[in-house]
Amino acid sequence: MKPLDQLLRTNIKNLKPYSSARDEYVGEASVFLDANENPFNKPYNRYPDPYQRTVKQKIASIKDVSADQIFLGNGSDEPIDLLFRAFCEPGIDNVVSIDPTYGMYQVAADINNIKVRKVLLTPDFELDVDGLLAASDEHSKLLFICSPNNPTGNCFIEADIISLISQFKGIVVLDEAYIDFAADKSLLNRLGEFPNLVILQTFSKAWGMAAIRLGMAFTSPEIVSVLSKIKYPYNINVLTQEKALELLENEKEKAYWVERLLAEREVLRAALNEFFFVKKVYPSDANYLLVKVENAKGLYQFLVDKHIIVRDRSSVALCEECLRITVGQPAENSLLLEALSLYASK
Ligand SMILES: *Cc1c(COP(=O)(O)O)cnc(C)c1O
Repeated sequence: MKPLDQLLRTNIKNLKPYSSARDEYVGEASVFLDANENPFNKPYNRYPDPYQRTVKQKIASIKDVSADQIFLGNGSDEPIDLLFRAFCEPGIDNVVSIDPTYGMYQVAADINNIKVRKVLLTPDFELDVDGLLAASDEHSKLLFICSPNNPTGNCFIEADIISLISQFKGIVVLDEAYIDFAADKSLLNRLGEFPNLVILQTFSKAWGMAAIRLGMAFTSPEIVSVLSKIKYPYNINVLTQEKALELLENEKEKAYWVERLLAEREVLRAALNEFFFVKKVYPSDANYLLVKVENAKGLYQFLVDKHIIVRDRSSVALCEECLRITVGQPAENSLLLEALSLYASK
């Protein structure tokens, strides 16, 4: 890895961040007349903690990392965008990404006027380590790896991921949004070994809280400081912080949801494999199945007409004629299977 100072954009390195009232005085006091808040309508009259200290403490203890290795954002989308803004000089720098993968990296790149150098996965959906390194040059600031990968559903070989982190000169962003569903372990317990690693996780999937918009980035305290410096001062509102704390007491329930979804996923897989128009159900480490069918667009439209929405991924690289199907509740999966039976007898 290059030194952080060389990777950062100069304007970000030199940035003097906004200092909020809550920054300048931290501690217990009985009278707060510093932030022009309305003294009525407690508790929502007060600005939230800009560093979400209580939530981070709780996450730190659950994930066994230190609180200063955690950045919280408005979904994973926020740290993705902030990483571009911190490291990538518009029109000059580039990022490297696998293909196919999660669409948000490309969108964030486009917003920031940064080119994405895409490197196809191998035909069996593994990382092309040499190809990814060969695609990088001195302007490649970020490398995006999503494992389990959306939409292919698989975890990549850990040795390949480690090899990329060790050799890439910039920051490696490892998106583990679906890691709770995977048999493979998170790389979180090895975070300290890799100063250029950013691991993204989220409350939107296994935790069942997509609506509160809370994403986690785990990385070195130095990179956390950079992201904290450029975020909106109060990026996580107090309702989200409170709900997250409540939810984090619910780890057992999360584990129960995951267990049920994994069992349902295999029921769904077996049932899908019975249909003549299903060519392949790919292995999955996530809460969805990538399914190759005859005539994906036709089947997608048939399901829409039955008010069942899946994701048409047939125009995505390596996913010709593929639909991505999220595992639902048993009753929802049954409705899907009934509709597919109708399609089969059409
Ligand atoms: C769903 C998903 C996320 C979650 O995004 P949020 O903004 O946290 O809701 C992140 N990465 C991938 C690959 C996803 O599929």
